[in-house]
Amino acid sequence: MNIFFDVDETILGYDGSLRPLVKQTFESLVQEGHRIYIWSGVRTAETVRSEVVEPYGLTAYVTACYQKPRWDHRELLPRLGVDVEPDFCVDDYPEIVEVFGGILIKPYQRERPDADLERVLAAIRAATATSQSTPI
Ligand SMILES: [Mg+2]
Repeated sequence: MNIFFDVDETILGYDGSLRPLVKQTFESLVQEGHRIYIWSGVRTAETVRSEVVEPYGLTAYVTACYQKPRWDHRELLPRLGVDVEPDFCVDDYPEIVEVFGGILIKPYQRERPDADLERVLAAIRAATATSQSTPI
């Protein structure tokens, strides 16, 4: 699946700390055949890559970065250069998840122990199993 992760409060705290289990989760997802995309409503595709993906050592796991549409989500995808279908979104904000499907993650604001990505990974695996068992 094409799995889209938000940045702020999803994989990154406002104190600049990377959420616990991000790398491990990304590694598992890539190994299991998924493609990871990172997008942000307050950054451009370029700054998502240069300020988040590269400095936090996530480059090997990430297929592409985008600016996330903040309204008219589906309609704005082509204008923002999003040329793949988001199959599963992970976000701390409900709207994106409601539009594209996925799962709401517990907001991560600053460095602290957190294992919500375990729940997210389980949900992605469950969604994968469901989509694979659907007859074509
Ligand atoms: Mg967010």
